[in-house]
Amino acid sequence: MKFHVLTLFPDMIIQGLSTSVIGRAAERNIININAVNIRDYTLDKHKKTDDYTYGGGAGMLMQAQPVYDAWREVSGGRKIRTVYVTPQGIPFKQNLARELAGEEEIIFLCGHYEGIDERALEEIVTDYVSIGDYVLTGGELPAMVMIDAIARLVPGVLNNEDSARTESFHNDLLEYPQYSRPKIWNGKKVPDVLLSGNHRKITQWRLEQSRERTRRIRPDLYEKYRRKEEAVKQLSKHKRNNIHMIESLVRGKAELLYAEGENLLIYNEDCKICMITAESREAGERMLVLAPSKTRLFITGQDFMNEPVCSRFSFVVYHECYQVLYTKKEPLPVRHNDIRLLTIEALPYVTEHYDMGDEKHLKKLIEAGMMYGAYVDGRLAGFMGVHEDGSLGLLFVDKEHRRRHLGEALVCYCTNRLREQGCIPYAHIIKDNAASLSLQESIGYYIAEQTVFWLGTDA
Ligand code: SAM
Repeated sequence: MKFHVLTLFPDMIIQGLSTSVIGRAAERNIININAVNIRDYTLDKHKKTDDYTYGGGAGMLMQAQPVYDAWREVSGGRKIRTVYVTPQGIPFKQNLARELAGEEEIIFLCGHYEGIDERALEEIVTDYVSIGDYVLTGGELPAMVMIDAIARLVPGVLNNEDSARTESFHNDLLEYPQYSRPKIWNGKKVPDVLLSGNHRKITQWRLEQSRERTRRIRPDLYEKYRRKEEAVKQLSKHKRNNIHMIESLVRGKAELLYAEGENLLIYNEDCKICMITAESREAGERMLVLAPSKTRLFITGQDFMNEPVCSRFSFVVYHECYQVLYTKKEPLPVRHNDIRLLTIEALPYVTEHYDMGDEKHLKKLIEAGMMYGAYVDGRLAGFMGVHEDGSLGLLFVDKEHRRRHLGEALVCYCTNRLREQGCIPYAHIIKDNAASLSLQESIGYYIAEQTVFWLGTDA
């Protein structure tokens, strides 16, 4: 991923981001940081980049020309997300960091003095973002804060991907207290449960600590968490039918937009997917006003919602799917011994054989560690993965290897991986795909009573 920083103080950016985790990621070319000196682009013979503000007032303002020319040189006419760091922007939060980590390139624009001429901002900025309600002297520190938070979500930057998944703000809870050696320090002992080796108890203890800490320090976040928990309880009354909504909330992939009794509307910002369950068409229609206009896909288990959703978003019903889920306690036997995480070298093979996603999307899934491959004699013979929304899918087995249980082995393997991460594995199977349905059923998946409808553009 490439970060361009337009600034009057490029040394500050280079020095600030050249050490520790971010510095190492840049050295290994996982990320690239390009600090661009705006002063190099001024047409003023004295290399000036600022001037007095029209209408009077204290301080100097950065002029439009050097800022715009620096941006034009970097963007080269391409559409690149351009973030102006400013106290007047929307607050920078973890979900925005996650969204921006999905971009291939971002331009950060740092202001100084009183800020930047509005006309340049109007031409180039796509996002106005603030790091908090206070005023700093320049945008370099805010840009570095954002780059740090975004970069560590880029696959490969952190050694242990799990550490980004279980940290503060994942699912609206602050992180639990942590301890390292020695067992006793300054008369204080590490809590017994952490030395017990009982992973179930440790997970439970950590959750309780996270809850307690969040309730005490961030009551606003805790309230959000509690509302989600209640929604999950409500949805669990019909667990099989609502598994997609339950897992989206529990895995921290979706936010609650509305919840009252059986009427729930949730939104997955990363994939722009809305999911709804309503007790009647009228109740559902009332919730629809809260569905974001940028929604790309709507999933509902109730056919009476198809027409109102389609007319509101100009969508069509393009799939009716069975929902299948695996809730048994035992892991599944995997009858193939060479299944592993796919690496980027597998992208051409996956792109060639998977016909429902473009290369960019598949690349993102591989880089995020969400795709697995089955190898025969060291050669890739099939693959499966987890879609961005969390459902299992993308199954493919090479013609010459079919009827040898490779598909079954891939499903079992992926199911086990998801279970290990504390998830309930589930999949949406297009209604006329009888082969896939009977495969999942034979493995031990349950089929939900209700089918779900996928509504979107048919492209
Ligand atoms: N006159 C501006 C105002 O009242 O909004 C403040 C200008 S500030 C002194 C100079 C630059 O620092 C801004 O243009 C912006 O790039 C950056 N900056 C200051 N505080 C910031 C914050 N809380 N978040 C993001 N950027 C900030």
